[in-house]
Amino acid sequence: GNGAATAPLRILVANPRGFCAGVDRAIQIVELALQKFGPPVYVRHEIVHNRFVVDSLREKGAVFVEELDQVPEDVPVIFSAHGVPKSVPAEAERRNLLYVDATCPLVSKVHRQAERLIAQERHILFIGHEGHPEVIGTFGQVPEGRMTLVETVADAEAVSVEDPANLGFLTQTTLSVDDTAQIVAKLKERFPEIQGPRGEDICYATSNRQEAVKALAEQADVVLVIGAPNSSNSVRLVEVAERSGARAYLVERASALTEDMVGGASTVGITAGASAPEVLVQEVIEALSAHRDVEVSSLTTAEENVTFKLPRALAG
Ligand code: SF4
Repeated sequence: GNGAATAPLRILVANPRGFCAGVDRAIQIVELALQKFGPPVYVRHEIVHNRFVVDSLREKGAVFVEELDQVPEDVPVIFSAHGVPKSVPAEAERRNLLYVDATCPLVSKVHRQAERLIAQERHILFIGHEGHPEVIGTFGQVPEGRMTLVETVADAEAVSVEDPANLGFLTQTTLSVDDTAQIVAKLKERFPEIQGPRGEDICYATSNRQEAVKALAEQADVVLVIGAPNSSNSVRLVEVAERSGARAYLVERASALTEDMVGGASTVGITAGASAPEVLVQEVIEALSAHRDVEVSSLTTAEENVTFKLPRALAG
């Protein structure tokens, strides 16, 4: 640091932050498969949306591909935490591939609700972001034409349905809690008989991290969200921090940090998306403390103790 003349920079670290139980499980599945079957183990899509995680698994022998037809015969393949359309395991079975599904159990829960709504002959309005792998996976649980994407309140206002009395809605797990509440309110206003999910589709990790970043934004001038640009829940954290009045930046890792981001701030808040490893958070804290005195403390808004069982093929 540069001495007593300047006050130390306060760094507030959000708790909970970073890895959720679904990401933790998905990474463990790849690691256990590598141990059990030996490399190479193929993974369809980035196992979780973080380049650091993907690169370190690649170094251990994981091979990442976008589609199943890129997987050779006789090697195991793992499906990512975001979930896959039903056609993917069906194709793996047709080809006799050994596959392990790392879909987060909370995404699978949404998949089963989609099936149930279809069994009740309802049309589903699905709240989510076009093109996200989780959305593609959930659409792939139901027959073509039985699900319509709703991205915004404007979409909820405009969407036309054949039978308003036979509707259901579900959501992506990593949405903004506040935006989704508005979209749902609009759907319920237009279609009072619409059936919602059992409990919440937005997962505990998403809502806890959003609540934590709000508390952070109240105390910090600048909020740094460690995460990847294709990580939906990380991008939402930046938006929530901005709406709560802080300047906020998505930072992939310490090398992406610039003096512009933190210049002039007296308190910097730090959090991490559900797919960002803790080592990247520590790296950013170290980078911030390289040129000045810092005072690090944590801001806790919830306790998490969620864990998921491993698939039977890999457990114990
Ligand atoms: Fe599962 Fe939520 Fe983590 Fe996605 S963010 S993997 S739904 S726990």
